[in-house]
Amino acid sequence: MATVAEATAAVTLPALTHEEIARYSRHLILPEVGMEGQQRLKAAKVLCVGTGGLGAPLLLYLAAAGVGTLGLVDFDTVDASNLHRQVIHSTPDVGRPKLDSAADKLQALNPGVKIVKHNTMLTSANAMEILKDYDIVADGTDNFQTRYLVNDASVLSGKPNVYASIFRFEGQASVFGAPDGPCYRCLYPEPPPPGLVPSCAEGGVLGILPGLLGVIQATEVIKLILSGNGEAKGESLVGRLLLVDALGMRFRELKLRKNPDCPVCGTHPTVTKLIDYDQFCGITPPAKETTQVASVQNGVPQIGPEELKRRQTAGQDVFVLDVREPHEYQIANIGGHLIPLNDLPKRLSELDREKNIVVHCKSGGRSQKASEFLQQQGFQHVENLAGGITAWSDKVDPSIPKY
Ligand SMILES: [Zn+2]
Repeated sequence: MATVAEATAAVTLPALTHEEIARYSRHLILPEVGMEGQQRLKAAKVLCVGTGGLGAPLLLYLAAAGVGTLGLVDFDTVDASNLHRQVIHSTPDVGRPKLDSAADKLQALNPGVKIVKHNTMLTSANAMEILKDYDIVADGTDNFQTRYLVNDASVLSGKPNVYASIFRFEGQASVFGAPDGPCYRCLYPEPPPPGLVPSCAEGGVLGILPGLLGVIQATEVIKLILSGNGEAKGESLVGRLLLVDALGMRFRELKLRKNPDCPVCGTHPTVTKLIDYDQFCGITPPAKETTQVASVQNGVPQIGPEELKRRQTAGQDVFVLDVREPHEYQIANIGGHLIPLNDLPKRLSELDREKNIVVHCKSGGRSQKASEFLQQQGFQHVENLAGGITAWSDKVDPSIPKY
């Protein structure tokens, strides 16, 4: 008679076919993986939120390793500016849904893996329902709302959250939401004020960096699966924050403790169901595609690119102030006077208070801040170019390259 453990293993772990034994032979001869480990990988269900920079290497390696079910959450389409880092997508995929592009690559790499496509933005309304079919969540998102949402959903559903984030040349990784480990909120109880931390779209990112971090995530996911008893094979990143500095090529780590006062995983949690993460992060949800521009934001009048063009064509005296960085100006400019946002306070003397000033940046965020600052400094005639030089390229002059 089989022991209980053997019976359970026989019921829960799928057998490997001859093809699978051949495919995974280099895994199988590792005693730390072996037949049982590979069967655990085959049985595992991993949800990857985002199929971008982190998701690309993460998903490719999980598929290659034989993780049986991979759930993909994305609603975006492939853009040319994604390709320098999102290596799961190729040039012919530009314009395709990322889900389809990613699923094709994964299926070609390993036809034995089941790909589940969740064609949606992860939200408070759907996160618990989507997570319930998976064992592990891997967070490949690039914004704070979704990061807190993934964290809370992982803690509330008792599933580990393999986390990484990247910016410019630096990244961090950890495993949150393990039974005795801390969560993302233990580390960062509050999101930063909106606009304080620039996104990769604003601040840039070295293309290889998500590759480094995504592979670290994949490693942690696989170690969690191999153990099969709730603890990772070897030593996991539970309770540790790995800091990666690609420019200096240095890896450091910080010890993380579970915070007993954590609102979601502490002893007396106050967050017991998913909340409104846009509100929590202090941001207005992205407006539906519209040509209407809000006329005033935080006291700053907004104008669209067509209106700026109209005024220039009509010969009106408009002073265009560009608050981007000099290297961005070199990529593309519309002839504005360049004063980077951070230099503005010490270069106010270059501006004429009597003139109508239209401030622009890449997409309208930094120029909004600059406009608010100028108003505080007593400038009366300041307007923000909504959508920035990107909108100008879209709506007025397509010869201006978008970056
Ligand atoms: Zn916590």
